[in-house]
Amino acid sequence: MASMFDIDIETEDVSEAEVQVELTSATVNRDSERVGPECFELLTVLGKGGYGKVFQVRKVQGGQTGKIFAMKVLRKAKIVCNAKDTAHTRAEREILETVRHPFIVDLLYAFQTGGKLYLILECLSGGELFMQLEKEGIFMEDTACFYLGEITLALGHLHSNGIIYRDLKPENIMLNHQGHIKLTDFGLCKESIHDGAVTHTFCGTIEYMAPEILTRLGHNRAVDWWSLGALMYDMMTGSPPFTAENRKKTIDKILKCKINLPPYLTVDAKDLIKKLLKKSSAQRLGSSNMDCLDIQKHPFFRHISWDDLLNKRVEPPYRPQLKSDEDVSQFDSIFTRQTPVDSPDDTSLSHGAQQAFAGFTYVAPSVLESLKEGFSFEPRVTHTHTHTHTHTHTHTHTHTHTHTHTHTHTHTHTHTHTHTHTHTHTEAQAPATASLDNGSASQPIRTPARNKKQKAHRR
Ligand code: ATP
Ligand code: MG
Repeated sequence: MASMFDIDIETEDVSEAEVQVELTSATVNRDSERVGPECFELLTVLGKGGYGKVFQVRKVQGGQTGKIFAMKVLRKAKIVCNAKDTAHTRAEREILETVRHPFIVDLLYAFQTGGKLYLILECLSGGELFMQLEKEGIFMEDTACFYLGEITLALGHLHSNGIIYRDLKPENIMLNHQGHIKLTDFGLCKESIHDGAVTHTFCGTIEYMAPEILTRLGHNRAVDWWSLGALMYDMMTGSPPFTAENRKKTIDKILKCKINLPPYLTVDAKDLIKKLLKKSSAQRLGSSNMDCLDIQKHPFFRHISWDDLLNKRVEPPYRPQLKSDEDVSQFDSIFTRQTPVDSPDDTSLSHGAQQAFAGFTYVAPSVLESLKEGFSFEPRVTHTHTHTHTHTHTHTHTHTHTHTHTHTHTHTHTHTHTHTHTHTHTEAQAPATASLDNGSASQPIRTPARNKKQKAHRR
């Protein structure tokens, strides 16, 4: 298990024995269905990430024709600028492939072209939990209890698979069409080595981040329980527990300040928040070997039947008002009014850079099972030799606006001119090996590229 999500982006030793075929969307997944961008019709833009867009799409070829999905497109050129991001992106595919849970987004297909990576996910038409929280201002305790309960089960499941989520915050928590929780955005997850082990990598918005991440003293799965506490506080009071006008002051508060618990919270809610927001991770609820079970046992959840909750037998507090499978009313019109365009794939990457994405291609077992023909899941390798002259001009404008009292603006401008002779070498279905650098003690605090709607001043 320990190396399940470990990724060595330097790995170059690929056996010479493989056949050389041109890598096209038709050659990947060739034993089953040939899945590529042409299989999906773009319907609407749902959101934008640091590396590309998320579209609502309809499958127009092969199995599941007519079905609606979300397609997350990531630009390799942007990803390879940062070695860690490459690892994160691969981790996202690998984690989603491995982890199946009622409250975690389902990955159906993953494929790549020369310049881009594609993740085909179930479309979560309920939108972000953030939208709901924004509408309501604060949640009643039983509403918060439902969402926190489902999130607790999802986090517990990740932890039991050796994965720390690390990036729990309202905009990464989505709702499906019925209003159940779905965790998305596994780009920043980090594998933890089971129990006792501590990792040093971190990224993400800081408001929900545990002290030990900010002090870079190493952290473990207890960071997710801190974030759960911060989220719980946000849901029930209208803002995260520690906010200030800038990042430094916010960090200072997270590290030093006592939480202020408003009197209208129930005794149980106050008690759970206090126990989750313990600055010392060893004293935090959930830090024992029992992990999520300790949280599930807390009196705040005493009305929850965990078995019913897991099996989606508990009615969600809000059912998204949706007219059809294609309804995007729960998404911000900043995105949905845009014309959906997946820009031309004109990037050519170096051999080493392409190697970083080896093994990205994937078809979900559930999809495979539904295919009539037999399928072998053996590793296979395709080589492409291309000689390309490329002129890449990338212009990124990132505008990050963190909700509540913090304002973060990030502007990035990248201009790249490349003339390359490329030897592209792409390996499909290779097992991930070796280790992801986790010695990032000196890594600066990174503002996640959350170039999306204005999330500040929501109340
Ligand atoms: P990254 O760090 O990979 O750049 P990101 O935050 O930019 O992450 P996501 O959170 O995965 O990327 O997606 C961006 C937005 O797209 C989400 O906030 C959400 O609004 C929308 N989105 C993502 N996945 C789905 C999905 N499965 N169904 C519907 N909408 C989605
Ligand atoms: Mg996100």
